Amino acid sequence: MSGFVSFVGAGPGDIGLITEKGIHRLKSADVVLYDRLANPRLLRYTKPDCRLVYCGKLPDRHVMRQEMINSALADYALQYLKVVRLKGGDPSVFGRVGEEAKALNEAGIEYEIVPGVTASVAAASYAGIPVTHRDYSTSFTVRTGHYCSHSTGKINEAVKNADTIAYYMGIKNLPAHCRQLTKDGLPPTTKIAVIEWATTGKQRTVEGTLETINVKVASARIQNPAMVIIGDVVTMRKELAWYEKKLLLGKRLLIAKASPSDSEIERYFLESGAEAYAFPTLAMKKSKLSTEDVEHITGAGRLIFTAPESIDIVMESLLEAGFDARDLPRWIGCLSEKTLQALRLKGIIGHKLQKTEKNSVIVGPESQHSKVTFSTHRIIRDARFKELEERLLAEEEWETVVFPNRSSVDWFTQEARAAGFPLSLLKFAYISDQVKAYAEEKGFQEVDEDIQREIEKWRTTRSKVGSEC
Ligand code: SAH
Repeated sequence: MSGFVSFVGAGPGDIGLITEKGIHRLKSADVVLYDRLANPRLLRYTKPDCRLVYCGKLPDRHVMRQEMINSALADYALQYLKVVRLKGGDPSVFGRVGEEAKALNEAGIEYEIVPGVTASVAAASYAGIPVTHRDYSTSFTVRTGHYCSHSTGKINEAVKNADTIAYYMGIKNLPAHCRQLTKDGLPPTTKIAVIEWATTGKQRTVEGTLETINVKVASARIQNPAMVIIGDVVTMRKELAWYEKKLLLGKRLLIAKASPSDSEIERYFLESGAEAYAFPTLAMKKSKLSTEDVEHITGAGRLIFTAPESIDIVMESLLEAGFDARDLPRWIGCLSEKTLQALRLKGIIGHKLQKTEKNSVIVGPESQHSKVTFSTHRIIRDARFKELEERLLAEEEWETVVFPNRSSVDWFTQEARAAGFPLSLLKFAYISDQVKAYAEEKGFQEVDEDIQREIEKWRTTRSKVGSEC
């Protein structure tokens, strides 16, 4: 017996396009080997102690070689680990799953393949191009742009038999493909769309014909990853380009974070078409409360929770020490709506406070902002994401930072500086005037009015806004 390997399709980019089964596998994985094209936001599904191994291209252009990946998969599985090999799109479409699975077979290791939404169909859909259509196309061919210049015979076949052709990895050889397709009999006026970073906030589409597309692609500086879709169906884009109508498409936003929980604001902006990333990824380090601490808490007149996470930790410690919820003080205060809600889920109605009060036992995370009687946990940077996020900060042209609360200003400043990320060209937006005042004190001045307006909109769509988001 050994561990088990799941080849999981991450989908083309949009985090909503991974399968439920894929998410499930990520949640239970002990180690994830991920590609450059798999959306890094999906790695947040993993357990805090799950190892994350990057198999993509590094800044020095060094790549983890295929044989190394094959043997790493086997090695981890032989250590009885649950291994996920996370691949962009679908693992079996130009994803080398054949080679990797074969190597596992030879080593006697069990595996499964969890399909994903492949980039051709996804890119076409997000660009408003149905790959088949009653009036234009009754077939759809998928090809790699890598080898086509060496296998002209196969191109002829494709042209004869397909109405719509999708080229993966075709951007570098696009001029050669266009020449060849024309030679093979396609009219020079045949429509082409090239879609870069499809299904993400960075999606850009360039449209043309076999004759005109190359100049357009060069002048728009379209790069990999890009999908080439050829055929009459491209004309449908005029009417159907739904995704590119999104108001914030192309906007690069960092959402500053101060807690490990999911960022609702990131999700909202991703849905609005922005390329939003919640930074930095944080983790929670729990501290144990002793029986003595628990007795102090149960004996207090007034108890205040400064963070929702503290409630679970106190409850656990309470039970371990032989108490239960009924032993907590009758009067419990909370500093945010979120904490109040978490307490309510335990069947306890608390009091909403603006700030901590004297003569109370205060329980919360260790933090610069508040003094606590007992610390239940500490928020730390999730070290597994450090390298990945450094790459992300360096590679993207981030425009604006959204600050959801005061601690997020501190976290962002500290971690962005540590990564050598220049703050001078950025604009900022805030969840509230208090946060704005705090950030201005720290030197963040220029407001991004568009994003600020968008935040107001987000706030009104929610019935309540706590101090944490
Ligand atoms: N297994 C993947 C394909 C891997 S090959 C899948 O099923 O989608 C890598 C190529 O896929 C890229 O060169 C590009 O042509 C295409 N691709 C992947 N993600 C893409 C995206 N978000 N937008 C456009 N093309 C993409």
